Amino acid sequence: MGHQKCGAVTAAAESGEAEGHLPSLLALIRPPSNARRAQPGDLIDNAVRINVENVVRQVRGSTPVLAALVDRGALMVVGAVYSLDTGKVAWLPDSQTKTMARLEPRESAQCAGSRRTRTN
Ligand SMILES: [Zn+2]
Repeated sequence: MGHQKCGAVTAAAESGEAEGHLPSLLALIRPPSNARRAQPGDLIDNAVRINVENVVRQVRGSTPVLAALVDRGALMVVGAVYSLDTGKVAWLPDSQTKTMARLEPRESAQCAGSRRTRTN
């Protein structure tokens, strides 16, 4: 879950100077910050959402453990963004982060009904 007005994402988006371990952390966020310019809306809001989408993809594709659990439907990873203005959490549309083209329609419907991470 990402959050509105994230300082780390803002720093990465603004490409400012940083000290210590921060440059390596910002580098992990920076690629999606570049991609956000192609989308309408607020640049930082877009960067926060894109970063969540990328992390969801990374977690889902992580081998050997997590990807195998996702493959057999034992684990679901869903992105979200927390709004500081409203206090609400917006779940990201699964289509934006989906890496599982092999999901059966029946399983997709089941996932849509319980949008949270779970393990069996
Ligand atoms: Zn943050």
